[in-house]
Amino acid sequence: MKGLSVRNCPICGGAEVVILHRQKFALLEGHPLADGYDVVCCVRCGFVYADTTATKEDYERFYAEFSKYEDRQFTSGAGETPWDAKRLQDTARQIAVLVANKKARILDMGCANGGLLKSLSQLGFQNLCGIDPSPVCVENVKRLGLEARVGSLFNLPAEIGQFDCVILSHVLEHVQDLKSATQSISQLTKSEGGGIYVEVPTLLFILTIRLRHSRTLTPSTSITFPLRPYRTCWGLWVIL
Ligand SMILES: [Zn+2]
Repeated sequence: MKGLSVRNCPICGGAEVVILHRQKFALLEGHPLADGYDVVCCVRCGFVYADTTATKEDYERFYAEFSKYEDRQFTSGAGETPWDAKRLQDTARQIAVLVANKKARILDMGCANGGLLKSLSQLGFQNLCGIDPSPVCVENVKRLGLEARVGSLFNLPAEIGQFDCVILSHVLEHVQDLKSATQSISQLTKSEGGGIYVEVPTLLFILTIRLRHSRTLTPSTSITFPLRPYRTCWGLWVIL
């Protein structure tokens, strides 16, 4: 069914969409994100995204005050479960193939409780930094003996500087304002020899998650996962 979106396409700005799916959520009182949205496909460019009424500011508040990633035991990103630890170790090894210099300045944007930073540290990387909107997550990372700052792509910590490698591991699919995010990523990446590492969920990842009785769409899902690169384990996209 064709219609006009609430939120214009984050890629081309188009408003005409095909509604693919209607998603509803049961949320806690005071939750800043929408309790439902349509998953739509842009008629002009084919991009599939969550047509949510939530704004960039709503997302910022959600990740600062309602972040599920603060819970070390029940969410991904901390490496507390065997499945999550293996996933983060695999990602760290992929990054180590691409970044040979162990003194390279590396940023994990949306670092949660620092599981990936810890895996990178165990591989010998010495110049690591995490950024997360949740002060609780940042404190958890610091307890690991690693550097972390409170912030986001839309609220960079003061004097954060530039990095040889900027990691966005399972972050972009939660970003509402892709255009501003891209500008921040560019600002954070050294123009000479710097690179970014992007990892997003794909069909294979979703299948794995579903087997663990988890949800594939959440209130904070802003864009959807690519359909084609599912053949690549963990949906690895490398842009370096
Ligand atoms: Zn579009």
